[in-house]
Amino acid sequence: MLKKVAFSLILCSFAFGFDYNLKPQKVSKDIWCFFGKTEVPSKENGGFMANSCYINAKDSYVLIDSGTSYNFAKQAYEAMQQIAKLPVSNIIITHEHDDHWMGNSFYKDKFNSTIYAPKSINENYDEKSRPRIFDILDAKDLENTKIIKADILVSDEKTLKIGNKEIKIIPTKITAHTNDDLLVYLPNEKVIFTGDVIMNERITSNRDGSVIGTLKTIDFIENLDWNILIAGHGHITDKMALEHTKKYFTLLKTRVLEAIDAGVTAQEIAKIVTMDDFKDIAMFDELNSRNVFDAFTELEFYDEE
Ligand SMILES: [Zn+2]
Repeated sequence: MLKKVAFSLILCSFAFGFDYNLKPQKVSKDIWCFFGKTEVPSKENGGFMANSCYINAKDSYVLIDSGTSYNFAKQAYEAMQQIAKLPVSNIIITHEHDDHWMGNSFYKDKFNSTIYAPKSINENYDEKSRPRIFDILDAKDLENTKIIKADILVSDEKTLKIGNKEIKIIPTKITAHTNDDLLVYLPNEKVIFTGDVIMNERITSNRDGSVIGTLKTIDFIENLDWNILIAGHGHITDKMALEHTKKYFTLLKTRVLEAIDAGVTAQEIAKIVTMDDFKDIAMFDELNSRNVFDAFTELEFYDEE
């Protein structure tokens, strides 16, 4: 009998793809998050690297980023049923990187949720797009995962009143982590979701971003009144949540500018600016030298205003 049960469990896990074993973490009153792994996406982690958070707005949930696949989103939703049995009325996507929004397909299917996002998602993707997760996970782990674009594009600050929550969506309007990032701010709860403008416990990927734009956006975030900051990646949510990103980009800017002044070339820059202070942080080997190289390209002709 036991053998039979074990066998059918194995069959089940095959039928439904990767088991994320998700447990929601409470970060504030009415807010729960699933915190992604601080690793590159892989078959082993099911591509679960970006944070995905649920806000209980009394009659429904509002979701900030929908995760890496239909399968992930379905499991996240099922795990949230133990907190409160509510539908997902609205989803806000912080930016176009696929680890943050491939889960849209589940919520659109199940609830026809309204999706808010930056316009880059509707401009840069269509039904035929195959973002990188399609090269990483097997077909069974991506079953039903489709490109579901935004219903409402946000280019100017917008305040939503949903249930008992007031939610401000604030476009950065400058290139920070991408050329089109949204911050999500709950003034009454004093909670801010920063998407990938802020990461902690790992090195950022600045491939589509800007050192200067990120630092300006960090200034803006610091001037808002919040007690809890939820980054796009990483678990730290207290007042220290943005310190890692701030320190990394500040040092990156200072050191790359010094090297440029000293005549260091693009070919040499990653060897000269080593950012060793961060070498024990997750994903340093994968991402740091690329960030240094990109910072050089950005700052080569930079004039401090
Ligand atoms: Zn990103």
